[in-house]
Amino acid sequence: MPVYKAPLRDMKFLLNDVFDYPKHYASLASGENATPDIVDAILSECARFCEEQLSPLYQPGDEEGCTLKDGEVTTPKGYKEAYNQYVMGGWQGLSAPEEFGGQGLPASMGLLKQEMMGTANWSFSMYPGLSMGAMNTIFLHGTDDQKDTYLTPMTEGRWAGTMCLTEPQCGTDLGQVKTKAEPQTDGTYKVTGTKIFISSGDHDLTENIIHIVLARLPNAPKGTRGISLFIVPKFVPTAEVGVGERNAVVCGSLEKKMGIKASATCVMNFDGATGYLIGPENEGLECMFTFMNTARIGTAIQGVGPAELSYQWALDYAKERRSMRALSGKKDPDYVADSLIHHADVRRMLLTQKAIAEGGRAMLYDAARLADHMVEGYSAGDEKKAAKYDDKLGFLTPILKGFLTELGNEAANLGMQVFGGHGYIREHGMEQIARDTRIATLYEGTTGIQALDLLGRKVLLTTKGGAVRDFTARIANFARKHLTDSRLRPFALELLKLTAQWNLLTMRIMFAARKDRDVVSSASYDFLMYSGYVTMAYMWARQAVAATNCLDKGGNESEAFYNTKLATADFYYERLLPRAQAHASSMLSSSKNLMQISADDMAFTG
Ligand SMILES: Cc1cc2nc3c(=O)[nH]c(=O)nc-3n(C[C@H](O)[C@H](O)[C@H](O)COP(=O)(O)OP(=O)(O)OC[C@H]3O[C@@H](n4cnc5c(N)ncnc54)[C@H](O)[C@@H]3O)c2cc1C
Repeated sequence: MPVYKAPLRDMKFLLNDVFDYPKHYASLASGENATPDIVDAILSECARFCEEQLSPLYQPGDEEGCTLKDGEVTTPKGYKEAYNQYVMGGWQGLSAPEEFGGQGLPASMGLLKQEMMGTANWSFSMYPGLSMGAMNTIFLHGTDDQKDTYLTPMTEGRWAGTMCLTEPQCGTDLGQVKTKAEPQTDGTYKVTGTKIFISSGDHDLTENIIHIVLARLPNAPKGTRGISLFIVPKFVPTAEVGVGERNAVVCGSLEKKMGIKASATCVMNFDGATGYLIGPENEGLECMFTFMNTARIGTAIQGVGPAELSYQWALDYAKERRSMRALSGKKDPDYVADSLIHHADVRRMLLTQKAIAEGGRAMLYDAARLADHMVEGYSAGDEKKAAKYDDKLGFLTPILKGFLTELGNEAANLGMQVFGGHGYIREHGMEQIARDTRIATLYEGTTGIQALDLLGRKVLLTTKGGAVRDFTARIANFARKHLTDSRLRPFALELLKLTAQWNLLTMRIMFAARKDRDVVSSASYDFLMYSGYVTMAYMWARQAVAATNCLDKGGNESEAFYNTKLATADFYYERLLPRAQAHASSMLSSSKNLMQISADDMAFTG
């Protein structure tokens, strides 16, 4: 079974040479301690933890899965010990506020950690990942009392958290939530209802689990305007911040699912459980969505991670496995056949994986700088700054989440393909990566919902195309600076063409949607994918610029590293970016080709 090796060289190239994180951190109040030496030390230590502790649990965790007995969930063998190591290393508090026991480092440091953990073992990383979502909600919307009660044990990792939104009748359309919350005379609420698909709903990793639950108050308005948010702890905390009585919330069953089997996906039954209102009445959805952008970047990692892991394993295999001779003549004459890596079509698959993993990573690190500014705004109570960066990030998050998770699936499937029939056999681990990553386009908002959010809300409704104009202006400014360097001119010219086209497409869809409302939905997926390919092209151009700078002025890596970056950028522009034009053409086609067949005529059965 192969193991995960953290791509530290690529990570450092992006952090130092492409995005100048040292300068970025120096500009942040929370970046005071994120000096290059400390960042390096944290990356190395995190890589060691992921490679030595998490990666070896990846395959056995899939084989064993979680078990439920008497309402209590047990995680696979080794998970509790690895989680204890995680807690002892202080990893949960890396980017959490110091006042609650965290290390107060910038949010992006948490993302780097999450990327390595998620690539080594996505199922494991979901337990602390969900806790982070709950911590953020309490931090932003909790009363001082609630923060004092919950945030320290959660930051230390002694308590975990969940996000309980989905119910049997609704996942996307949360306006249909039925779970009820009845006010009690002591100011608490009795929460009753069933939530399904709840990640980390129960487990044996922590002393307590803090559920953040969407529910309705009596007589609340119908739909999304009548939903409130509640804290429902598994054990009701005592005044001494200890673990008190067992609350009336239990895991009724574990979902049997395709992948991420070591992550407990629970049906949670709330039966008059004691809950505490968090945030204003009937504004639960707004509160829940405040930090959704960061959560969605977190899920976008599940596009990059599998592409990286599957690529690492497929590359090793392609160097070892032999099949026939290369068309251009023998490459390994001492062997019976040449290795797979000498065949152009195998290289197509490998380089697609590499371009997705490294291009996607660049997209994440670019967005993570915006997240740092946004979090700093919220933490300092600077609403204007928080809103400004939330908007910038808000435009990129559906692209990151939707596009990268779709491409993550493609990369994981290509990894299987490189292994041939062996890719389909469990012992090699390639089919597990494909199964595990399949969920990423579904939860935290499906690709379709990301696409609607991008085109319908962020581009057409709220900014009338302004979000595209702003972002493409940034790309065009960058491209214009590099027209004179012959090595970079092809990238710059292509980017200038694409920025003009992106604006034109937006205007055309805006006009078409005025006559036909279905256009917003019918064009949205292609618009999202087009946006993704152009954004990734921008990221590959930025990497090409950094690589040429390092070649000219010297860098920490070998010439081969920088030349490979340039060659991968060429590959991306010549073989993957042309797909953007197919999406452009498809998005402009009429909604009629989707809507004209009646629901009754969709199938010819019976
Ligand atoms: C393993 C796993 C873990 C999960 N973890 C959690 C968790 O921790 N907490 C939690 O609350 N939930 C969780 N979920 C639930 C998950 O977020 C939802 O399943 C997801 O949001 C989709 O909702 P749905 O399943 O109800 O699909 P639906 O909303 O029924 O959607 C079905 C299809 O219709 C499309 N669609 C729906 N509405 C529209 C529209 N208006 N326009 C165009 N297309 C539309 C969707 O894109 C999708 O393709 C998890 C799910 C799984 C499988």
